[in-house]
Amino acid sequence: MRYGVLRTSVGPRFARFEGGAAHVLEVAPWLGERPSGESAALAEDALLCPVAPSKIVCIGRNYAAHAKELGHDVPTEPLLFLKPPSSLLGPHGIVRLPPESTRVEHEAELAVVIGKRAKGVAKQDAMAHVFGYACACDVTARDLQRKDVQFTRAKGFDTFCPVGPWIETAVDPASLAVRCTVNGETRQDGSTANMIFDVPTLIAYVSRMMTLEPGDVILTGTPEGVGPLVAGDALAVEVSGVGVLKLRVEK
Ligand code: MG
Repeated sequence: MRYGVLRTSVGPRFARFEGGAAHVLEVAPWLGERPSGESAALAEDALLCPVAPSKIVCIGRNYAAHAKELGHDVPTEPLLFLKPPSSLLGPHGIVRLPPESTRVEHEAELAVVIGKRAKGVAKQDAMAHVFGYACACDVTARDLQRKDVQFTRAKGFDTFCPVGPWIETAVDPASLAVRCTVNGETRQDGSTANMIFDVPTLIAYVSRMMTLEPGDVILTGTPEGVGPLVAGDALAVEVSGVGVLKLRVEK
């Protein structure tokens, strides 16, 4: 099943997408399927960011080749950081290059959306807490990340967390292609099969530290090939079985 948020005349509404139609829901789909009875034609330019998390938990260096390209050792346990919900951006949104940075980079990632509260869950039970999956870009001001001890500034600017174009629930995250193109040129072409810590391991690990609420998002790390973004770029993140998240980059 495919769920997202639609711009309507009465504001943003959660909806289930089927064929060319959007079936409007009364509440976020991870809170239960409650159809309002209204339907609308599904127009791609009416899609908004499909998630509304209390927090966005991110995993750093979860692909060995990416850890190496940044000059780091492969981690022995997941490296966690947070992006603020204010950094979220929807499909066809504009990633804004902040004046504080001279080096903003793309990181194409699989996003996991939590469906059921998770606190201290075991790895073997973790997948029961997943609602679905989306494409994401962990946009990063690399110069500020290297300068600051914390990742908060480098990863936390408004528009630095595009997620979308929708949430797909019928996906096995074990071996999905994760790709990034800039102006049609392939920059990243990885597979979630190469994650150091897989999705169940990440949910179990994160839920030991902090309760994952329905709707919360985990960004699972990026494969190798990260590179700079400049004003005017057309950025796309694709996850096989999910879709393509298209964005623009501007100052
Ligand atoms: Mg990342």
